[in-house]
Amino acid sequence: MLNVDLHCHSNVSDGILPPAAVAARAKANGVDVWALTDHDEISGVAAARAAAGALDLGFVPGVEISVTWAGQTVHIVGLQIDETNPALVQGLAATRNGREGRAREMAGQLAAAGIPDAFEGALRHVGNADLMSRTHFARYIVELGRCVDTKEVFRNYLIEGKPGYVPHRWASLEQAVAWIGGAGGVAVIAHPGRYRYSDMEFGVLFDQFKQMGGKAIEVTTGSHTPDQYEEYARVARRYDFLASIGSDFHGPGESRVDLGCLPPLPAGLTPVWHDWAL
Ligand code: AMP
Ligand code: MN
Ligand code: MN
Ligand code: MN
Repeated sequence: MLNVDLHCHSNVSDGILPPAAVAARAKANGVDVWALTDHDEISGVAAARAAAGALDLGFVPGVEISVTWAGQTVHIVGLQIDETNPALVQGLAATRNGREGRAREMAGQLAAAGIPDAFEGALRHVGNADLMSRTHFARYIVELGRCVDTKEVFRNYLIEGKPGYVPHRWASLEQAVAWIGGAGGVAVIAHPGRYRYSDMEFGVLFDQFKQMGGKAIEVTTGSHTPDQYEEYARVARRYDFLASIGSDFHGPGESRVDLGCLPPLPAGLTPVWHDWAL
């Protein structure tokens, strides 16, 4: 059976390793087919493709787009995208645009909460100045010794109701699905188990996504519990979505699941790669 991992990050977004090092780790962990899916960025795809080619590792160009839907952030993964597609490139650039201003506001809130110099501190952890994310602030807060790990940071800071949370308007669901589809890719709802929607809202999300041309959901991901693998397998069957799998690996020692280390998809699903030439 193929070992497939279609969701992870490099230091082009909020991962720790450069794209080529992520490729090497995927290969070493036994991955056969690998996608790099940096947040709102495709500038790591070329290096990732070259590294995968040299390792004889199956490569899928990807991205994870930040979307605001019904007042919450949803992530839409795009797989098999043409990363040079102009509308996709421009759309992602626009989505990245507000991040620096948001980061300055986050730093202001953190200063008021007794965490000084957070903008500069987070910036030291950033691999791409266009993509300052909450993860970089979390690493700085750990470095300061204020929390033992980034998980603790995301319980006490940077989330709604806690210091350092600045709400942000990302792309619309319609835009993200259109950019991905226009670039020849497949749109996938990332880690649905992480969103705090009611059953009714989830129903509307899945219906709208499908109507817009969305094709797949992540069933098995580092963000889901084993119970949630089964829960979203049922959703995939009910809505006739293709099923995807990905570790969401961000870095050694930081992510719950390493590259290629998830169990295979539950039975009775159509994998998102069913019609890819692998
Ligand atoms: P941003 O796009 O700046 O809002 O940052 C979102 C990123 O923060 C996610 O992609 C995760 O890598 C990280 N993150 C968000 N919430 C958590 C959490 N509860 N635990 C660990 N990491 C988180
Ligand atoms: Mn992330
Ligand atoms: Mn995500
Ligand atoms: Mn991710």
